[in-house]
Amino acid sequence: KKFPGDFSNNTMQRNTPKVLFSTIKPAGFDRPQLIAFNNVLSEEIGLGKYEEKDLNFLVGNDLPENVQTYATAYAGHQFGNWAGQLGDGRAILAGEILNDSGKKTEIQWKGAGATPYSRHADGRAVLRSSVREYLMSEAMYHLGVHTTRALSLAFTGEEVVRDIMYNGNPQLEKGAVVIRTSESFLRFGHFELVSAQQEYKTLQDLLDFTIENYFPEITSSENQKYKDFFENICTRTANLMVEWFRVGFVHGVMNTDNMSILGLTIDYGPYSMMDEYDLNFTPNTTDLPGRRYAFGKQGQISQWNLWQLANALHPLIKDEKFLEDTLNKYGTYFWEAHDTMLCKKFGFDELKKEDEEFFTNWQGLMQELELDYTLFFNQLEKITADLDLKEHFSKVSYTFLNEEKLGKLKNFIENYESRLKLNSISREDSQKLMEKSNPKFTLRNYLLYECIEEISSGNTEMLQKLTKALENPYEEIFPEFSTKRPSGYDDTTGCSTL
Ligand code: AMP
Ligand code: MG
Ligand code: MG
Repeated sequence: KKFPGDFSNNTMQRNTPKVLFSTIKPAGFDRPQLIAFNNVLSEEIGLGKYEEKDLNFLVGNDLPENVQTYATAYAGHQFGNWAGQLGDGRAILAGEILNDSGKKTEIQWKGAGATPYSRHADGRAVLRSSVREYLMSEAMYHLGVHTTRALSLAFTGEEVVRDIMYNGNPQLEKGAVVIRTSESFLRFGHFELVSAQQEYKTLQDLLDFTIENYFPEITSSENQKYKDFFENICTRTANLMVEWFRVGFVHGVMNTDNMSILGLTIDYGPYSMMDEYDLNFTPNTTDLPGRRYAFGKQGQISQWNLWQLANALHPLIKDEKFLEDTLNKYGTYFWEAHDTMLCKKFGFDELKKEDEEFFTNWQGLMQELELDYTLFFNQLEKITADLDLKEHFSKVSYTFLNEEKLGKLKNFIENYESRLKLNSISREDSQKLMEKSNPKFTLRNYLLYECIEEISSGNTEMLQKLTKALENPYEEIFPEFSTKRPSGYDDTTGCSTL
């Protein structure tokens, strides 16, 4: 389907043509209550130290007079279909803050009230989704993955109606607001919107602005700079996908309106860290029929999304052959980067020809033995084939390791040991490489679920502990968090888009 698809007949379209944003005030909340505040980030971006009197700011109350708040319009392809105009339905921007070294950071409330782009929805967020956004974006940051960040988490004091998937009945949940920060919240969808509206001058202005502000590495001029930009966003996106694969992150809603034009992880909805390795795993229960956004498809889907971006930028980059070649090269680049990343996880100092077969066998083993992705690599750092594999891997597998399966595992470890011999670095250096590439702590879904339950009942002990753990993901601070998902939870417990 050619961009922009059928824009006119879409019932989801909201007509604000020629308008990229609308000024809008946060709803205002009477009884805000602080849950968490990120002091380090606050100081870093120039907001300074938090004091009790600042609580109102955290939910968008009592803003300084010079703060003009607004919501932006964007469009997007959702689940493969053109969805027409969307926009910040529950995000309100406060503009940028400047720190002492001149770095600008955008600040946004999520869940602080309806905007002109809310459509039928309420513009609110609940505790559940807010905790998930707050903790996971920070967890990703500390894992070393490019992401938007989270500054604060506060109750609004309001009750919000939500439809929880598990019992089908509307429920009242506590409302909450997260302040998130980013160099920019611009998405592929912003470019898709103005392009679809044939506002080519605005499209060019927006791209010029983006390049000038967020892509200092692009120094070319006029038409070449647009081409350089497209190559650059392809590389950034591929690198981001590789990082998601490294840590086992499944985004769950990779619609083009959730793709950052800076190559950041953005929009923490029904995401999940992967427990047992499964290329088909999707945490998004609305994605279950097609599994479009499954773990193993994220490379391919990001390429599809870049294709939509290419269509949107076509009026500025008319060279179709260039766009097609760049998109085709994306696949090659992605897989090379992906395999190089896997090498590091295994402690190999460089990618060798025969590794492709090794990786394929490994994937088969992981899938068949239902091995935990994170724990598997932690074990591999210290395992040798002559150790008791049953003892070491029963803590890692979600299925019973019978003799046949143990045999396959032993065989794999032996192959691994012979592959290690091809390294030109010492085993010690190889282990160091593994320690840097393989987290010991990941913010598993069930941990989030338990944490949310606790906060709901007024206890923030687990929140403190998880915060400490996620700030040091390459160490094992709390051994009880470095275990596989307990029975009683399934792999999508607590995942929700709302
Ligand atoms: P998402 O699936 O989270 O990317 O959301 C898709 C679109 O729905 C975006 O334009 C959101 O701003 C909007 N949206 C999601 N939740 C709400 C809500 N509670 N109120 C208003 N708009 C929402
Ligand atoms: Mg979104
Ligand atoms: Mg969302």
